This record gives sequence, C-alpha cells and structure tokens, in this order.
Amino acid sequence: MRSILVTGGAGFLGSHLCERLLERGDNVICLDNFFTGRKQNVTHLLANPRFELIRHDIVQPIALEADQIYNLACPASPVAYQYNPIKTIKTSTVGVVNVLGLAKRCKARILHASTSEVYGDPTVHPQPESYWGNVNPLGPRSCYDEGKRVAESLCMNYHQEHNLEVRIIRIFNTYGPRMDPNDGRVISNFITQALRGEPLTIYGNGLQTRSFCYVDDLLRGMMLLMDQDKETGPVNIGNPGEYTMLQLAEQILKQIPESKSKIVHKPLPQDDPKQRCPDITKARSLLGWSPTVDLQAGLAKTVEYYRGELAQA
Ligand code: NAD
Ligand code: UDP
Repeated sequence: MRSILVTGGAGFLGSHLCERLLERGDNVICLDNFFTGRKQNVTHLLANPRFELIRHDIVQPIALEADQIYNLACPASPVAYQYNPIKTIKTSTVGVVNVLGLAKRCKARILHASTSEVYGDPTVHPQPESYWGNVNPLGPRSCYDEGKRVAESLCMNYHQEHNLEVRIIRIFNTYGPRMDPNDGRVISNFITQALRGEPLTIYGNGLQTRSFCYVDDLLRGMMLLMDQDKETGPVNIGNPGEYTMLQLAEQILKQIPESKSKIVHKPLPQDDPKQRCPDITKARSLLGWSPTVDLQAGLAKTVEYYRGELAQA
C-alpha cells in the first residue's frame, strides 16, 4: 500500500485529493498549517485509519516517509496570498526546497501545484506551456506569481541535478464545493453574494476573462499526470471555456433565480490579468484528458454547497 503525502491537504483542492486517494486505497498523510485551509474540510476523513493529519508549516523542514508527494501548500486566493506577501514567497521557495528535499531523501515522486499565474497578464492567447509569460516582478501579485515561477525552476533543478521524479501541473482557475466562502475568489464571492441578496462585486468593467475548471475534472487530470511515466511537465490543466466576469455574474444570477442581487462595479485590482484561457493540447495528447463538466453543471453543484454552508452559519 502506498503512502502519499499531500501538503496543503486541508485546503480546497487538497481535501478533495485526500478523499480520492483514500478511496483508491492509499495511505494519506495530510499536512497543513491551516492558514487558508480548514479542519472541517477533512474532519470526515479522520476516522479512516489510513488517514493522518499533521499541523505543520512547510517553511520548516519535516522528516516523514512517503512514496509520492503532492505539494499543494500555498494560499491561492489573491486576497490570502497578498495578506503576508513575504510568507507567500517563503512558502513557494524555502517551503518548496524543504518538500523537494524530503522527496529526494524518500526517493518519492513529487507533483508540484503550479499555476496559470506564471503566464501573468498574457500576450499570447490561449496560453500554451511554451509561453514564458508576462509577469510584473514588483507588483502586488508577484509574491505569488514569481514564487510559483521559482518553484517550477527549483523542481526542474532537482529533477536535472538529482534525478528526482517531478511532475509540474499548471492549474487554471478551479472551483467547486469546499472553496472557502470568504476567500475572496470570484466564484465564491459571486455565489455567496447572490445567496445573501448582496450586490455582486465586479472589479473593473467586467470584460476581463477567466476559464473555470470544475474540481472533479482538475483532480482527475492531476492524478493522471502524477501517475504517468513519460512527462515531467509543465502541463496545463484547465477548462478552455472562457467567460468575462460579467457573463459569470449573469450566469450565477440565472442559476439562483430567487436572488434579488444587482451588479455593482468596484475598482480593478492592480495587474489583474485581462484574459486567461488554457491551451490543453498537451494534456489531451499526453493524458487523454479533457474536462467534462461545463460551467452551468459545475456552478449548480457549487451553489448547492454554499446554500448548505450559509444555512449552517
Ligand atoms: P487553498 O488556499 O484552499 O489551499 C491551500 C492550502 O495550503 C491551505 O489548506 C493552506 O492552509 C495550506 N498552506 C498554505 N501555506 C502553507 C504552508 N506554508 N505550510 C503548510 N500549509 C500551507 O487553495 P487551493 O485552491 O486548494 O489551492 C491549492 C494549490 O493549488 C495551491 O498551491 C495553489 O497555488 C494551486 N492553484 C490553485 C488554483 C485554483 O484555482 N484553485 C489555481 C492555480 C493554482
Ligand atoms: N473578481 C471580481 N469580483 C470579485 C472577485 C474577483 O470581479 O468579487 C475578478 C478579479 O478582478 C479577476 C477575476 O474576477 O479579474 C478572477 O479573480 P480571482 O480572485 O478569482 O482569481 P485570479 O485573479 O487569481 O484569476
């Protein structure tokens, strides 16, 4: 039986991943410092004897045994990662060195969660893996974007220098149940605002685009990438369906017909990327992967989740 370490395992994506790995029969060690993750995301797993939860910050080294490591630890919402930018960079640099060092000692294969943010405000559209990106190295997003770029570089260096088995996934905006309702990302904001009857806050004119992937599709792609033997990566995983924020707001209001919410415009944050859409040619050919859940179906499941969350609160 394999032992799999998931850093950031109490977060949105990490908690779904832990669940899937347990379902498959693996032993799972979930490690998290609970900065943006929540214990309630994994409470239902605690009774499983193959599941272990450790409170730990990857900026500090840790000695554990594992056959595979999924490194997801890092805040993902701009509000969260800009709260303490130095800590965010430390997590993607010192933290990633610690996790890579652990992988090297255990001879474990490691998948690192990178991001479409490495493309910055892209001048190539859609974005293939070969595009080097357009990142402002001094802007408010740089703690995350540049941190993730260094992390990719570190992964490649460990792969080349130490023959470490590395997989790099570039994740495009992913949503679904267990996204923290207060984390400030656009889908959690719009749905909770619509359910509370508050105005939906569109930043800027709302014509900027994002491509939204449902969590189940993303995790399928992530696990396929980890378990194939041909490619280190990076590999884009995301849904090429591209929407403006205005279209997204309108779609969410359509799916919550009782909502009395209106739309308001707020200032656009500095360096907010104007467009984002994955080129998934590589994922299709390498993994036979493509997304299966469209925005409407994914939003329906997410709205249902937030209804439950808000009712409990
Ligand atoms: P999340 O904020 O819900 O999860 C991140 C988890 O990492 C949280 O549980 C948090 O407490 C933990 N964490 C943060 N810093 C840590 C540290 N120093 N030590 C230990 N744990 C730490 O975000 P998510 O959406 O689940 O994202 C997971 C990963 O995927 C992140 O690395 C993120 O950058 C990447 N990603 C996510 C998206 C997305 O749209 N969801 C897009 C691109 C990349
Ligand atoms: N956004 C918005 N209203 C919100 C939150 C976000 O219009 O309440 C916009 C944001 O400016 C960006 C897009 O939605 O253009 C996606 O933002 P998010 O924080 O979800 O992710 P990222 O910018 O990292 O892709």
